[in-house]
Amino acid sequence: MPAGLYLHYPFCPYLCSYCDYFKSLYNKSDEKDFFEALTTETQLVAEEFPNTKIETIFIGGGTPSLAKIDLLEYWLKTVRESFDVADDIEFSIECNPDSVSQEYLAALKDLGVTRPNFGIQTFDPDLLKQIGRGHTPHQIQEAIYFANVLWFKSYGVDLLFGLPRQTSAMLKKDLSQLVDLAPPHISFYQLTLEEGTQLYADVNSGKVVMPDDSLVSAMFRIGCDKFLSAGYEHYEIASFAREGQECRHSLNYWQGEESIGLGPSAHSYLNGRRFANEESISEYIESLKQNKIPRILNEPALLDRADETIISSLRLRDGLKRKKFEQLFGLPLDERIDNKEYEKLMEAGLLLDDKGSLRLSDEGFYLADEIALRLLK
Ligand code: SF4
Repeated sequence: MPAGLYLHYPFCPYLCSYCDYFKSLYNKSDEKDFFEALTTETQLVAEEFPNTKIETIFIGGGTPSLAKIDLLEYWLKTVRESFDVADDIEFSIECNPDSVSQEYLAALKDLGVTRPNFGIQTFDPDLLKQIGRGHTPHQIQEAIYFANVLWFKSYGVDLLFGLPRQTSAMLKKDLSQLVDLAPPHISFYQLTLEEGTQLYADVNSGKVVMPDDSLVSAMFRIGCDKFLSAGYEHYEIASFAREGQECRHSLNYWQGEESIGLGPSAHSYLNGRRFANEESISEYIESLKQNKIPRILNEPALLDRADETIISSLRLRDGLKRKKFEQLFGLPLDERIDNKEYEKLMEAGLLLDDKGSLRLSDEGFYLADEIALRLLK
């Protein structure tokens, strides 16, 4: 069975004010213990799900570009020995611009990485400081220069909008600088306020002011227009790519394919079941010392995953492929959607049903989440 492999690398050099991902400050001895545990988890998962073919690898986190090359190499050897790994694998790794040198990226390429993804967020030095990022605009330019001189097959960048006190003029400056660098792939995300973060507390106490909703919506349209006029394909609501440079790992996931998640807090979906690991590095390490995967969730999830796939596929320009949906979930798409809402959306010209795919019109595309929720039974 084809599957994507996701690794959650849980260490960071600093903690950004807006981030609610599971992570911990970097510590050399914890990292070594983590990789030992990870290697055990990799072997246990491969034994539990034999005949899994790994088509893509994505290392996220955390800050995976902090990982020691010899430890990554040790883990990848185990992945290749334990699983059938596709020859044409797409292998992505998230990188912070302040933790990559040309030598480090060259070493990643030697390990088989095909696609570094740089979390640049903004070029504005004051905004970078405000959200707690540790890199400078110069380090962004350098990281992208390194990716170009090393001839990676592809690479991506993440840009945020809706940052504290950000104006549309500030965003336009970011967009121009980014388009000048011409990365093959751009992810364009709205900064969302997550409870429990420093930013959330600062906004609540009035210390930090966020742009209002109408400005944030306008920013999203400004970004989309800029990327479209620069020749990018808007293939997913927050993703833009040069031709053939879409992220295969994400596409497969959005289209409902199986996925293996390794590391603390990682989620998997395999054989119609959903699994999730404990959000604790120490418990992860201790449990795997006893050869036990620290799972906090192991439940049937076929229908939930089918519904999630409807939502995520409608965020794709190409929409939801009926045949693929039926193959993956063993049930016709019409069983999961509300027929009355389907008719209304078709009549309003927001939904299109052609060539075996259900997809949104240009007008509907920007309302993807709202439409998907209406459409689900
Ligand atoms: S945004 Fe990235 S670097 Fe910052 S704390 Fe979160 S995971 Fe770490």
